[in-house]
Amino acid sequence: MAARILDGNQIREQIKAELAGEIRELKAAGITPGLAAVLVGTNPASQIYVRNKVKTSAALGLFGEKIDLPASTSTGELLDVVDRLNAREEIDGILIQLPLPPQVDSKKVLSAVDPAKDVDGLHPLNVGRLVSGDFRLVPCTPAGVIEILKRSAIPIRGSRAVVIGRSDIVGKPVALLLMHEHSTVTVCHSKTRDLPQVAQEGDILIAAMGRPAFVTGEFIRPGATVIDVGINRLTTEEEVRRVFHDPAGPLRQLAEKGQVLVGDVQPEDVKERAGAYTPVPGGVGPLTIAMLMANTVRAARQRRGMRAPG
Ligand code: NAD
Repeated sequence: MAARILDGNQIREQIKAELAGEIRELKAAGITPGLAAVLVGTNPASQIYVRNKVKTSAALGLFGEKIDLPASTSTGELLDVVDRLNAREEIDGILIQLPLPPQVDSKKVLSAVDPAKDVDGLHPLNVGRLVSGDFRLVPCTPAGVIEILKRSAIPIRGSRAVVIGRSDIVGKPVALLLMHEHSTVTVCHSKTRDLPQVAQEGDILIAAMGRPAFVTGEFIRPGATVIDVGINRLTTEEEVRRVFHDPAGPLRQLAEKGQVLVGDVQPEDVKERAGAYTPVPGGVGPLTIAMLMANTVRAARQRRGMRAPG
C-alpha cells in the first residue's frame, strides 16, 4: 500500500485559520500581538526565513518588525538591541535568527531575551520548563512535528520513537516532547553504533541531522511514520545523481531552478517503506512559521495573564 503523505501545507493552513480567529478576538480587546525578528548579516537562507516570518505575521494581522544588523555586529551591540526589545511593551515575541556570526556569543544573546518573549523557546528557563513538562513557549520546529503527528492521528502514546540528531533546536526538544506524550524515545547522534538497526525500532522515526538523504530504506521499519526535519540544498548534478535512484526529474529541476531541495530521508525509499511520511518540501517546514505565530499569540496572552482559549 502506498505510504500516506503528511501534508504540512494543509496543517499549516488549519493552524493559521485557528490563529486568525484568536487574533481577531485579541484585537477586539485592544491587543495586537507583536513580533520582532532580528537578522544579523546577509546569510541568504536566513534572509528568506526572516522575510517570510515578518510577512506571515502581517498577513495574520500581527504587528511584525524586522531588525537588520550588519554581519560585524558584536555581542554587546546585539545585547543592547535585545534589551531595547525586552523593554518595548508592544513587542510580545523576540526572534533572533540563527545562526549568528562567529564573533557573537549566541548563548549569551539567547539568555538575554526576556523569557516571557522568547518565542523560539531557547532561553534556559524555557528549556528547563520543557524538561519538567511545563510548556510555556516551546521551540517551533519540534512543536510543529508534534502538531503534524497529532493532527494526522498518528498514535504517540506507547509508541517507540527514534530521533536522529540531538541539537538544542530540534533533536533534544522533539525527544522531550515525545517523551511527555508518553512515547518511548531513543535519541541517536553521530556517535551512535548500528544506526540503521536502532532506527528500525521506531514506530515513529524523526530525522534531524542535516545530511541529505542519509536515512535510507534500511533505517525504516516497514509501515513506520517518518518525519523528515532536514532541509538540504543540492546544487550539482553529481549530488543529485548520488541521492536519487531515478534522477531524471530532479535533474530537470536542477536545470530549471539551480537547486533541488532534499530532506535527511531518501525520498524514494520512504515512499516504499513507510506507512506515512512528511515530504520535503511541504512537510515540517511550513509548520515552523505557523508555530512561531502561535507562540507570539501565546506570549501576548501569557504576558497579560490571560488564559488560552478553549
Ligand atoms: P545540527 O547540525 O545542529 O545538529 C545535527 C545533529 O545530527 C547533531 O546532533 C549530530 O550529532 C547529528 N548527526 C549529524 N550527522 C550524523 C550522522 N551521520 N549520524 C547520526 N547523527 C548525526 O542541525 P539542526 O539545527 O538540528 O538541524 C537539522 C536539520 O534540520 C538541518 O537539515 C536543518 O536545516 C533542518 N531544520 C529544519 C527546520 C524546519 O523548519 N524544517 C528547522 C530547523 C532545522
